[in-house]
Amino acid sequence: MDSGNLKIAVQKSGRLSEKSMTLIKESGIRLTQEGKLKLVSAGQNFPVEVLFLRDDDIPQYVADNVADIGIVGENEVMEKQKPVDIIDRPGFAKCRLSLAIPQSMEYNGLSFFNGRKIATSYPKILQKFLTENKIGAEIHEISGSVEIAPGIGLADAIFDIVSSGSTLISNRLKEVEVVLRSEAVIIASRDISGPKKHILDQLLFRIHAVLNAGNNKYILLNAPNESLEKITALLPGMKSPTIMPLAEKGWSSLHSVVNENDFWDIIQKLKELGAQGILVIPIEKMIV
Ligand code: ATP
Ligand code: MG
Repeated sequence: MDSGNLKIAVQKSGRLSEKSMTLIKESGIRLTQEGKLKLVSAGQNFPVEVLFLRDDDIPQYVADNVADIGIVGENEVMEKQKPVDIIDRPGFAKCRLSLAIPQSMEYNGLSFFNGRKIATSYPKILQKFLTENKIGAEIHEISGSVEIAPGIGLADAIFDIVSSGSTLISNRLKEVEVVLRSEAVIIASRDISGPKKHILDQLLFRIHAVLNAGNNKYILLNAPNESLEKITALLPGMKSPTIMPLAEKGWSSLHSVVNENDFWDIIQKLKELGAQGILVIPIEKMIV
């Protein structure tokens, strides 16, 4: 029997697990005690259940409505080709799926792969890419440790996840083509309706508050009054900055919100405009 709770599938253990759980916890959801072998955990103060699964299985479970939503790598969503919708991008687990070959081999473009054997855990994504580029290669599907395949003579090349590239280097491989960029995504079943849709909307509202907060900082500074106009233009904040006079004549205190991406750029300009005593404070939640 369906409890009516929104069921969220997350990776049981792996690269997505910790950030997925942090997102759920920072959204104010307290879960029942998670035992080591636990497969399901219920929300104590919010109508959700969290299902702990292998990441490969998450698209299928969501497509089958065993879970209503899931947090999974976009690469798995592309590979599994299940009928689910990507509804959000929480901004972590950024990586790429690339073709790599032994460092000792010369690379002169995609035609290198004609007639070669490529080891991968992502056969569908790779096949699509090869077909689009009219390359005839043999795909050898393996489920893990793809990077050792050329070294042990199993394949001529690999198609796998790369982030820093250090795994490639330690296996004497070089990245030669980026095929897909990926990050964690929230996927949803196409059959969510009624009360569950309402729970999902509430959850997404909370998740956005958490994600916005993470990208923004609260900034306080003192500035000479003659610079206020220029500083206000630099720091538009959520509506406009708060400005209060200081006890010292000709000076004001200004409070605003600044985005992490422009942060150092803005700080530099603020200093040039005579800002002093700049304080930068993390924001816990931000509702825009
Ligand atoms: P499972 O046991 O659940 O099947 P797994 O071994 O298949 O786990 P992980 O290695 O934990 O998977 O990776 C999970 C997801 O995290 C990947 O599908 C990818 O989206 C992302 N990811 C993998 N490696 C990296 C990396 N080096 N940097 C950033 N993101 C990554
Ligand atoms: Mg997996």
